[in-house]
Amino acid sequence: MADLTLRDLVKTYDRTEVLHGINLAVQDGEFVVFVGPSGCGKSTTLRMIAGLEDVTSGTIEIGRRVVNNLEPKDRDIAMVFQNYAIYPHMSVRKNIGFGLRSSKAPKAEKEARIEEVAGILGMTELLERKPAQLSGGQRQRVAIGRAMVRDPAVFLFDEPLSNLDAQLRTQMRLEIKKLHQRVGSTIVFVTHDQVEAMTMADRIVIMKDGHIQQVGTPSEVYHQPANTFVAQFIGAPAMNMIPGRAADGGIDLSTGGRIAIGRALSPGAEVTLGIRPEDLTLDAPQSVIEGKVIVREPLGHETLIYVGTPAGEIIAKADGRTPPEVGSTVRLGSASENIHVFDAGTGEAIR
Ligand code: ADP
Repeated sequence: MADLTLRDLVKTYDRTEVLHGINLAVQDGEFVVFVGPSGCGKSTTLRMIAGLEDVTSGTIEIGRRVVNNLEPKDRDIAMVFQNYAIYPHMSVRKNIGFGLRSSKAPKAEKEARIEEVAGILGMTELLERKPAQLSGGQRQRVAIGRAMVRDPAVFLFDEPLSNLDAQLRTQMRLEIKKLHQRVGSTIVFVTHDQVEAMTMADRIVIMKDGHIQQVGTPSEVYHQPANTFVAQFIGAPAMNMIPGRAADGGIDLSTGGRIAIGRALSPGAEVTLGIRPEDLTLDAPQSVIEGKVIVREPLGHETLIYVGTPAGEIIAKADGRTPPEVGSTVRLGSASENIHVFDAGTGEAIR
C-alpha cells in the first residue's frame, strides 16, 4: 500500500487539452472515487496513473516515487476494468493466478497466495470451476481476485460495475466496500454514478470538463457543495435551483416572495438558491413558495411531487402514504440552514 500524489497533471490529445492541471493527494489506505459526467476526464486520469496513457505534463507519485516514465508493470498497481477479461477456458484458480504470471515467487508461495485471496473473497469452494459455472457477481470477484493476488500499492477500478444489472451492482458495491475495510488497500475508483461514489468513497473527487470541482467526504460534498455543478450532480432528485436577489434578512425570489436564509449577504447581489427536495416541507408557515402539485411519483416509502410555482417547477418529497393530491396547493418552505446560496454569475457557493 502507498500514497498516490498527482501534481499539476495535464493531458493533451493532439492539440486539445482535456485535463487542465489535476492536483490530488490520496492517503495510504484511502478509498477515493472519481465521479463526473461522461467525457470529464476520469478515465484518462486513471489510465495515466496506470501508465496506459502518457503524461503531457505534471507528475504522478506512488509511494513517494515518481512513476511518470515507468512501465505499467513496474508501477506496483493493479487495475480492474469494466470489461473484466477473465479467461473462459481457465479455472478460477488459474484466472486469479494469472495476476502472478510475471512474479518470480516460488510456485508454492504463489499457490498459497491464490488460496489466501480466494479465502478473502469467499471463493475457496469455487477454485476449480470455470467462469461459465459462475454467477455474474462471482466472475466479477475473480477479476478483483486477480488484481488482489499481486498485493499492489494501489488498486485502480475503471467503472467495474457498469455492466452489471442493478441488483448485482448494489451487491458488488457493498462487497468492494467490505473488502476495503478488511484489507485497507489504497483504491482509486472511477464511476459516473454518484450513488456509487457516495456509498463507497472515503473521499469523492468531482470532475467536470477536465477540472476538479470539489474534493471532499460524501457528507461534505452533499452538505457543502462548492458550486452549482456539484450541488446538482450529487443527490437525487437533483437540488432545486431558484433565482433570487439578496435583500434585507433574506432573498427575494425573482417571481415574488422573500425567503429567510439566516445570514447577511450584500443587498442586491444576484444569487441562485439551492434547496434539496428532501429539505422542503409542504405546509410551511413561513418562507413560502406556493404552488400546485402537477405530477406525483410514488416510490413506496416516499412520493416525489413536482410542484408548479412562480419560480418554476420544484421537486419535493412527500410522505409515501398520504401525499398531496394532484392539483392541490402546497406551501413549500425550508429551514434556513438547509438553503444553499450560490453566486448567480460564477455558480460558486456563498458561505
Ligand atoms: P470520462 O472517463 O470522464 O468519460 P475520458 O477521460 O474518457 O472521460 O475523456 C476525457 C476527454 O478526452 C473527452 O473529451 C474525450 O473525448 C477525450 N479523449 C479521451 N481519449 C481520447 C483519445 N484517445 N484521443 C482523443 N481524445 C480523447
